[in-house]
Amino acid sequence: MLVFAKIKSVQQKIKSLKKGTSIGFVPTMGALHKGHLSLIEQAKKENDIVVVSIFINPTQFNKQEDLVNYPKTIDSDLSLLKSVYCDIVFTPSAEEIYNNNIISQLFNFDGLEHQMEGKFRDGHFDGVGTIVKRLFEIVTPTKSYFGEKDFQQLQIIRKMVEKNQIHTKIIGCEIYREDDGLAMSSRNSRLTKEHRAIAPFIYKTLKKAKKEFGIKNAQEVISWVENEFKKQPLLELEYFEIADEETLHPIKNKDPKQKYRAFIAVFAGKIRLIDNISL
Ligand code: AMP
Repeated sequence: MLVFAKIKSVQQKIKSLKKGTSIGFVPTMGALHKGHLSLIEQAKKENDIVVVSIFINPTQFNKQEDLVNYPKTIDSDLSLLKSVYCDIVFTPSAEEIYNNNIISQLFNFDGLEHQMEGKFRDGHFDGVGTIVKRLFEIVTPTKSYFGEKDFQQLQIIRKMVEKNQIHTKIIGCEIYREDDGLAMSSRNSRLTKEHRAIAPFIYKTLKKAKKEFGIKNAQEVISWVENEFKKQPLLELEYFEIADEETLHPIKNKDPKQKYRAFIAVFAGKIRLIDNISL
């Protein structure tokens, strides 16, 4: 496994690969867990080599506190990556990426950016677009792997690739969960014992909402979920929405031709957790 911190060195290595070598790319912010590894394993199967980037991108954090507290576990990340036979790891510094000018490019994602997370995390998706576009330019991946855990992000990246005619195929990967259903996340390690114990309630409620969606209208399902969370003092619901998978617009009337997904954001103490389920 080769580890590069400099853009020039990783580019040099990629340029030296035999023509036609397919590159699978998995961008991450580190603090790796089995969810990340599932993306890497899929990338391994579908490509000649796999590149993983580890970069805590400052421009996608709307709260400085979250950036400062983001878990940093580079040594265990590298041993996990070795254990799944990752070929190349790219670990740039913020200076290497942003050249002392830590600002986002501004994007138009045709409105995808204004829904859900966009309402609560100002500038987040401009930050995501900025870093992912830059990483695509550096790594030139054949296929790039993103988790459905961050479904809105996945759709936004698809939009960015389409609008900017970037030559990489975006692959969405299923959400990897703990045995009790909690979606794996680097933030889970920061939950208190009590919050960790109650957190599986989020996915349990999503699964019940999916069932309810079969027999009730969307507004009834939304009210039911909001009510469930009111009974749960340790969890604070930020939003629950049912939206069209393509446009991410909130559902008005159920159209059997459309695909819908339920999206949720919840505070467990100070830790913000997100999840979603296809309906
Ligand atoms: P992060 O390091 O949290 O920015 O995540 C890097 C990539 O891993 C993103 O594409 C995430 O959507 C994906 N990811 C994170 N957690 C999971 C999970 N539990 N299941 C599937 N993909 C995930």
